Amino acid sequence: MNFKENVNLLKIKLDKASKIGIISHIKPDGDNLGSLFSLGTVLKRQYGDKIDILKSDNIPDKYNFLSNYNKAIEPNKDTNYDVVIVLDCGDEKRLGKYEHVLNGAVVVNIDHHISNKSFGDINFVYSDASSTGEIVYKILKQMNIKIDQEIATCIYVAISTDTGSFKYDNTTKETHEIAGKLLDLGIDLNNITKRVYQSIKLNDALYFIRTLKNIEFFYDYRLAIVCSSNVNGYNNQDTEGIVEYARDIDTVEVACFIKEIEENKIKVSLRSKSYVDVAKIAEKFDGGGHVRAAGFTLCNTIDCVKDKIILEIEKYLG
Ligand code: AMP
Ligand code: MN
Ligand code: MN
Repeated sequence: MNFKENVNLLKIKLDKASKIGIISHIKPDGDNLGSLFSLGTVLKRQYGDKIDILKSDNIPDKYNFLSNYNKAIEPNKDTNYDVVIVLDCGDEKRLGKYEHVLNGAVVVNIDHHISNKSFGDINFVYSDASSTGEIVYKILKQMNIKIDQEIATCIYVAISTDTGSFKYDNTTKETHEIAGKLLDLGIDLNNITKRVYQSIKLNDALYFIRTLKNIEFFYDYRLAIVCSSNVNGYNNQDTEGIVEYARDIDTVEVACFIKEIEENKIKVSLRSKSYVDVAKIAEKFDGGGHVRAAGFTLCNTIDCVKDKIILEIEKYLG
């Protein structure tokens, strides 16, 4: 089915449904939340209480300026949905303990991960899209829905965060054209920048500095690894930006952040700069992502995970 037919089918399913959920992934990021609140707000305006905006995890409070932020709820096990729209999830596991909300529902999969196997009944999966927000924008346009400043703000946050503020390879001419149209709608760019990028909590900043001091390098400084163990409840700390900082060192091609989120449960974030496909590496460990940003979770010790990664990445560095 082509895009237009898919959008028509989506409209029919939404009109017919008595209960609709729209859901974000665990550890939601800006793309995920911008997509959730743009499409969620549009649908709430149109369908009212039959729409539930659902979260799989806590939403960082820096995003509280996005419309309907306060309406996001965790799924209730007694609610059955006729349609569930899943945003920015390479696979269903990204819903964590709430994967069951998909049971019995028409699943609408809107995503841009290269590893996405089109698990939905209706799939909007475009790995060449900069962000899920960009796909949401196109769906709204195809539906002839007027995008106002509130919706534009959410979509801008989605696109800006997933492109590293329009720096990464996933940024296209079209990405900039859409961003231009969103600016035309009168979004407050200064406010968005302050909220999303310039509101780091002091505690997180201090943690960032301490953690980066432990950076290690391998293979002629082409691989950088930063580890964070769960002592003193460090696993609750916002660690955004650490892996990107390591990647941005001039010699580094691949950066890896290894974080103990629970005892012996390790989350790994991978980033590359020019030629290594980190999505492929993440898939080897049952994770996923994009060519330049990917991740996975393993049950093991930090040291074991680190050894495995060092060995695996050598094959890709050439
Ligand atoms: P992160 O390092 O958490 O910022 O994630 C980078 C990219 O990898 C995102 O696009 C995620 O969707 C993807 N990703 C991270 N962790 C996993 C995982 N455990 N399984 C699948 N994809 C993941
Ligand atoms: Mn995401
Ligand atoms: Mn995304």
